[in-house]
Amino acid sequence: MTNTPLKTSDPELFNILFNEIVRQETTLELIASENFVSYPVLEMAGGIMTNKYAEGYPGKRYYGGCEFVDQAENLAKDRANRLFGVEYSNVQPHSGSQANMAVLMTFVKPGDTILGLDLAHGGHLTHGSKVNFSGKLYNSIFYQVDKDTGLVNFDEVIKLAREHKPKLIICGGSAYPRFIEFQDFKQIADDVGSYLMADIAHSSGLVAAGIHPSPAPFCNVITTTTHKTLRGPRGGMIMMGKDDLNPWDIVAPKSGRVKNISELLDNAVMPGVQGGPLMHIIAAKAVAFGEALRPEFKVYAQQIIDNAKTMADEFITRGYQLVSGGTDTHVILIDLTNKDITGKVAEKSLEKAGITVNKNMIPFDEKSPFITSGIRIGTPAITTRGMQRDDMKKIVSLIDTVINNPNDDQKLFSVKTEVKELCKFFPLYPELRDQN
Ligand SMILES: *Cc1c(COP(=O)(O)O)cnc(C)c1O
Repeated sequence: MTNTPLKTSDPELFNILFNEIVRQETTLELIASENFVSYPVLEMAGGIMTNKYAEGYPGKRYYGGCEFVDQAENLAKDRANRLFGVEYSNVQPHSGSQANMAVLMTFVKPGDTILGLDLAHGGHLTHGSKVNFSGKLYNSIFYQVDKDTGLVNFDEVIKLAREHKPKLIICGGSAYPRFIEFQDFKQIADDVGSYLMADIAHSSGLVAAGIHPSPAPFCNVITTTTHKTLRGPRGGMIMMGKDDLNPWDIVAPKSGRVKNISELLDNAVMPGVQGGPLMHIIAAKAVAFGEALRPEFKVYAQQIIDNAKTMADEFITRGYQLVSGGTDTHVILIDLTNKDITGKVAEKSLEKAGITVNKNMIPFDEKSPFITSGIRIGTPAITTRGMQRDDMKKIVSLIDTVINNPNDDQKLFSVKTEVKELCKFFPLYPELRDQN
């Protein structure tokens, strides 16, 4: 076994890692789904628990030697339950998509109908998209946002729900700048007798901080990623506010001694869609949840939103059109149609200038998903770095320069220089510098 450090044992990959560290440190990370984990989370995620096989759940594993990983997983669950005010959590899903898959496998049978937000209107692949398992296995139908307001069109949701009687309604999405309207969805789900799932992959950090409404009182089941606003390691999680639904409503009695839906969900995760859990990541989730339980996290989450609102106002002042006219959250969706530039070109030019965003469909987009008419911007990562109001104004002015001069390499280069200067004030992982 090689125990010399990566730097000497595999210089090729060390170099790739080093370049990525430099990229993260010297560019502006505005992808709404990204964040920077704390150094303790990084330590745990990069630590020796990666060596452990622990198929099963704490106290009920298929492998020996699980004493300490059991402690870590139990802590992750306890902290998640406290953080979100829920009775049940499963912290094993490797990703948000796998959390969603386990929930769909639990609540919906192949061929059943699900109702989710249209991908082009801010939804997610796993909410029924035809290219995803959720659209291939289930009869998926979609609601959209209203053309004028950019908000979920609840007249349409109720119409579709009454017409199609979905087994499950999914609320939440990846590019929805406003609070998710859990209560409105709950009324509709009750009206038609559907289960209601909230996918808070994006907003879970804001929910944990108590700044975004909580789905727990309204939704039967909740999924999230742990790596977006929640600022943990890359992964997923499933929760239930109360574990009080009757499992016999969704499984045939022959399936044995099932007492609660939580057992069905646990079984859907493992062995349903996964094998061995990533114990290093589960332990890192516990570390991140511990951080999110501290009062500082509330301050952080509020700053994410303040920063997004400052940016939104600044964009509007500069003549940009924002879907829904602004934001309640960390997400801004810019409609670039009046700026004579596609999302694709904007993304490329911004990247050249050291600013990372993603092109994004806007509701009723006339361009393809590869071109798009919009870009999505988010503030979680730059807020983690410590940037505040004045920095937001500066960043919008830099973005504006790029959008107005997408092919002017000299201007792009000068923006890049300014980006680097700004980043210098907000060092990332100084702990790593000593090691390199
Ligand atoms: C990011 C996201 C997911 C999936 O997360 P992955 O970890 O990338 O699989 C699911 N749902 C929504 C709404 C998301 O934004």
